[in-house]
Amino acid sequence: MKRTPRPDTLITHAGRTPGDYFGFVNPPVYQGSTVLFPDVAAYKRGDQRYRYGRRGSPTLEALENAISAMEGAAGTVLEPSGLSAIAVALLSCLSSGDNVLVVDTAYKPTRHFCDTILRRMGISTTYYDPLIGADIARLIDGNTRAIFLESPGSLTFEIQDVPAITAVARERGITTIMDNTWATSLYFRPLEHGVDLSLSAATKYIGGHSDIMLGTISADAEHWRALHETHGAMGQHVGPDVAYLGQRGLRTMAVRLRQHHASGLKVAGWLETRPEVERVLHPGLESFPGHALWKRDFTGASGLFSIVMQPGPQEAVAAFIDGLDYFGIGASWGGYESLAVPFDPTSSRTATRWNAAGPAIRLHIGLEDPDDLIADLESGLERWRQAGGGG
Ligand SMILES: *Cc1c(COP(=O)(O)O)cnc(C)c1O
Repeated sequence: MKRTPRPDTLITHAGRTPGDYFGFVNPPVYQGSTVLFPDVAAYKRGDQRYRYGRRGSPTLEALENAISAMEGAAGTVLEPSGLSAIAVALLSCLSSGDNVLVVDTAYKPTRHFCDTILRRMGISTTYYDPLIGADIARLIDGNTRAIFLESPGSLTFEIQDVPAITAVARERGITTIMDNTWATSLYFRPLEHGVDLSLSAATKYIGGHSDIMLGTISADAEHWRALHETHGAMGQHVGPDVAYLGQRGLRTMAVRLRQHHASGLKVAGWLETRPEVERVLHPGLESFPGHALWKRDFTGASGLFSIVMQPGPQEAVAAFIDGLDYFGIGASWGGYESLAVPFDPTSSRTATRWNAAGPAIRLHIGLEDPDDLIADLESGLERWRQAGGGG
């Protein structure tokens, strides 16, 4: 029997079956809707491996199988975006009349889906403090069917006690769903921490090059059937070119993430020494309140974190960011390039309160030389002060 491969080995080999493709290393891009059957009997039986483009192809399967291996999951479905992964995961376990507990620091469009589509379907959402831990038990009602987690929290990086929450959920027979986009399956394995459905915006680090939109949902054996059924009934499908780019990105994710981890920590540590910066929200820093939990459960950090500035005007934030040479201004992250965006989470929190005196900026540290990024940020802080920012 083969030894259990370590993560770097698994990510290089999982889902690859060159023998099926004349020895070519990567799966071909199967473009297809119709799949032909040899005769009427086979068509009627419908048990052929591939039956229709929407229901799967070797290109899609190669990525699904690789992700399942990385996640330790019974199965994985691909979705056209991270947000559609969130929607399908929630719909796979909720029905009219149910209640779902959603972490207050969830990605903002997750809240929007709950507050619009789920509400219209008669499903109520209760937002909870990301630091709630085992006290989540107090929020569980007779109709609570699912708990949605995202750790670290979007924009503000609170670390949840995932095992404490999933232990309560398992006791009560409640399904848990986790958005694991930030850590990826390399740095946090949700199913090993008791989560039932692990999802990811593969748009970010799996794609890794800012050139695709893609989502994944992986399930344990108990939840796989319901997930697969919901995914299929909703007609969810990812094109073969995108799936191909997803599996290509995946192969180098381990080396890319190591660099994001190291550069991110280096830049975060430097920012922490700057008087203009009031706080650095990076779980890998010892000063961060969630650091101990992060150290217990995660094996690394990716390149995304935030800073809270000393008090200062919005013009100073713009002067800081606009003049940066290597940081683009834009949504999404997880590509090879650095990004900087201002944010204010006040309007997307209801169970907790965001109280920072100064403005906040989210940074994605890409694969540039971190010393060039630090020099770039140093000039930015100079502009911040000249424009009236504190520090
Ligand atoms: C970007 C993001 C998503 C959504 O992914 P898309 O592919 O943009 O739809 C979901 N969750 C988190 C945490 C994200 O950062």
